[in-house]
Amino acid sequence: MNQEPRGPEASRLRQRKFAVLRRFSIPDNLLPGSLSLSHTRCGKPRCRCADGPGHPVWSLTFMLHGQKHVERIPAAWADQVRQRVEAGREFQDAVREVFRINAQLLALSKKQARAKHSSQRSSSR
Ligand SMILES: [Zn+2]
Repeated sequence: MNQEPRGPEASRLRQRKFAVLRRFSIPDNLLPGSLSLSHTRCGKPRCRCADGPGHPVWSLTFMLHGQKHVERIPAAWADQVRQRVEAGREFQDAVREVFRINAQLLALSKKQARAKHSSQRSSSR
């Protein structure tokens, strides 16, 4: 690609892309997957969980090398892990958006190159 597409659509896409790029340098603490809360009973007959909803169990579910992993998360870590998972999702969305914008810019560039070529051809007649 030797020529950047021009025009209002191209500049709108580029502005959007750089707004995203500025917003996201690559954070070093992102987490994949999703954090979920479930409840489990420990099985001890005299534990208070026997009558209640059970002990809260936080887990982080994520894919690693094509396999699903579930990692138990200490309750005290849950807030921080949730923030890191949300930051990871925002980052992935941003990366996808940059890819999408680049593909649109490529298509626009091709369209403009074609238009330029055909107008040169017609003016030479
Ligand atoms: Zn219990």
